[in-house]
Formats: sequence, C-alpha cells, structure tokens
Amino acid sequence: MNKGFFVGECPFCKQGMQEILREKSTGKYFVECDECMVEWENPAKALTNVDASRFKYGESVDATIDEIRALKWDSYVISLQHD
Ligand SMILES: [Zn+2]
Repeated sequence: MNKGFFVGECPFCKQGMQEILREKSTGKYFVECDECMVEWENPAKALTNVDASRFKYGESVDATIDEIRALKWDSYVISLQHD
C-alpha cells in the first residue's frame, strides 16, 4: 500500500496519482505519477503539466510530511494517507 503524499491525478494516464518523492542520490524533490512514472520538477508544474519528463530521476523514496512542509509544498497535498 502506498503511503505517500499526492498533489493530483495524472493528466497522462488518468489513472495514477502525482506523488511527491525524493531522489536518493541527489536529495532532490520532485513529483511522479505512481502509475506511468511521468515526472515533474515540482507540484505547480505537475498540476499544470509543464515540463514533464520520464526517467530523469533515479531511485527515490516517498517524501515525508516534514520535508514537504519545509519545501512549502504542503498546500498542494490533497491526501494525507498516514499521520
Ligand atoms: Zn500517469
């Protein structure tokens, strides 16, 4: 079960959800569809579907709510599935 934080529905596959992740190697945060793996640099770009990419980021983990708050991305989060 996925316990991440999501900002919206994927405009590409219309099945997945856009999830906030952190790339392990760089510590960079980004948004990725949990179904089709399309990525965006940040929630604003994810929601407007600007500069989408694929396979730009490497292995990643779910961002925590503390990390998301520090980024000031918490206002984008639509679903808090743990806490
Ligand atoms: Zn998708």
